[in-house]
Amino acid sequence: MEEALRTSEARLHMVISHVPIALFAMDQHGIITLCEGQGLQRLGLQPGQVVGTSVFDLYGSVPQALEQIRRALAGEALKEVVHLGKLAFETQFTPLHDVEGQLVGVIGVATDVTERTAMDEALRYHTLYDALTGLPNRTLLCGYIEQAFKSVANTQHGPALLMLDVNRFREINDTFGQQQGDLLLQKIGTRFREKLYAFDRLATVARLGGDEFAVLLPLADEESAGQAAGVLQAALEEPFSIEGLCIQVEVSIGAALAPGHGSDAPTLLRRADVAMYTAKQAHEKYALYDAVHDQYNPQRLELICDLRQAIASRTLTLHYQPKAALTTGEVSCVEALLRWHHPKRGFIPPDQFIPLAEQSGLIASLSYMVLETAIQQCRLWMDSGFKLEVAVNLSMRNLLDTELPDTIAGLLARYGVPGRLLCVEVTESAMMTNVERTHDVLMRLFEQGVRISIDDFGTGYSSLAYLKRLPIDELKIDRCFVQYMTSIRSDSSIVRSTVLMAHRLGVRVVAEGVEDQETWDLLASMGCDIAQGYYLSRALPVPELESWLNTTFQSVRSSEQETAAIT
Ligand code: C2E
Ligand code: CA
Ligand code: CA
Repeated sequence: MEEALRTSEARLHMVISHVPIALFAMDQHGIITLCEGQGLQRLGLQPGQVVGTSVFDLYGSVPQALEQIRRALAGEALKEVVHLGKLAFETQFTPLHDVEGQLVGVIGVATDVTERTAMDEALRYHTLYDALTGLPNRTLLCGYIEQAFKSVANTQHGPALLMLDVNRFREINDTFGQQQGDLLLQKIGTRFREKLYAFDRLATVARLGGDEFAVLLPLADEESAGQAAGVLQAALEEPFSIEGLCIQVEVSIGAALAPGHGSDAPTLLRRADVAMYTAKQAHEKYALYDAVHDQYNPQRLELICDLRQAIASRTLTLHYQPKAALTTGEVSCVEALLRWHHPKRGFIPPDQFIPLAEQSGLIASLSYMVLETAIQQCRLWMDSGFKLEVAVNLSMRNLLDTELPDTIAGLLARYGVPGRLLCVEVTESAMMTNVERTHDVLMRLFEQGVRISIDDFGTGYSSLAYLKRLPIDELKIDRCFVQYMTSIRSDSSIVRSTVLMAHRLGVRVVAEGVEDQETWDLLASMGCDIAQGYYLSRALPVPELESWLNTTFQSVRSSEQETAAIT
């Protein structure tokens, strides 16, 4: 018996060692337990040579092989062609399960198909992988997502999809040229893959095109998806070097989780995209899908409908928040801020409905309503002896509207308000997004004497060259720098240097978000011109503002002093 067994074992070994394939077996952790076959020669290996080694150490640097190994170790049976340098191997992985259905290992067979498939494979590779980064493309990612759904069928957990978009990539591309932009995308892809892989061996990073990446976590919950987002953000903490310059890159990440947010690849992709957009809008780094922000969501459509009505019926109201000179406390300007009390949903903050107006094409009529109400109010104040400059917030969309300057001129004329009593606040990023087109609109407003203010300064990328070219009167330091400037040193340095720079350019400086006396004093000591914030007052309805002006602070009532004298 023993003799017979030995003979048959020897025969088996002889066969295995002569088959023109490479045969591997590994345990559930990826440790190689067997490697045999003539085909090993093509891989530069001897039989038995790598037994005991981790397959990740062996092929971890080949993204495509890595991808396969991870999926195989997740229990997936697969057959694909893998490229190792100039060679192509058809690899087939078969999971091994014990009687209880637990994965105990994987058998892999690799056949050299370099010649046979060189042509076919080149084609296939290009249809499934992104040429720039070598990462799976959208098509392949979709396949993986569907696969992930199949392998978690009947369980409560599911795959999670993270969608990432590099913030202001276009600016980087425009500044350094496309070649450098491409190089940056490659580097970003590599960092994502490395860091994410250390976090979750089963994760896949794909590039969807442009500056968009996606990450599939085959098995995740809300917590692990959030952690993965953190890992991706952290991967970009260290700046990239482009032409010797340090470039800090940030991404906005949106996540959608199965089964709650979708149970097929297209839905999950679309919803992760919605979440990413939400994150971007809110200037957050990460957002989980929320049906409220989804344009295909019936609730959202209803809200747009309500908003349209609220604009038409003027049930949106303006509250006004005073801005005061830091040295004298004089209030010479107020900022108009929209308030919406929804009949059914109660108070909806502007941060939520302004983006809705922007996305649904309502922003033009909304801004017209705001401008008209504010200019009319300014006239009423003039008549009752308050000389108050009124500031109105405009969206990027408004700045792209070449008719805006004429519209504003018409309103100023109709109510007999001088241009210098109107100020338009435009966020730094809106102003910088389309400099050529916005420049013309801003110039024409400037010619009418309308004041131009850069809002949320410090949160975008401003080019000093552009700032100098634009007709700017005022710069508002974003409240994120102001709020903690008495305790965070770097924040106070930013404020201090912004004040200096703005004064050099002949621009007055407003600090927003001033919430206490200490901040007020510090700002005054830095030479900042104007403060706005809860310390002074919240935005108030007209009657309350008027009584506040009469009692608390001295306004420039009937004063001959020009508001411009503040600078
Ligand atoms: P913003 O232009 O930066 O307006 C300042 C926001 O900061 C206001 O929030 C204001 O209430 C709040 N704020 C003022 N002082 C303080 C403070 O001391 N501490 C803190 N934590 N917050 C303070 P609000 O009214 O919710 O407006 C949010 C944003 O919505 C505005 O940011 C503006 O971008 C947009 N918005 C409001 N009204 C309009 C509008 O009529 N048109 C457009 N396009 N956007 C508007
Ligand atoms: Ca503002
Ligand atoms: Ca602001």
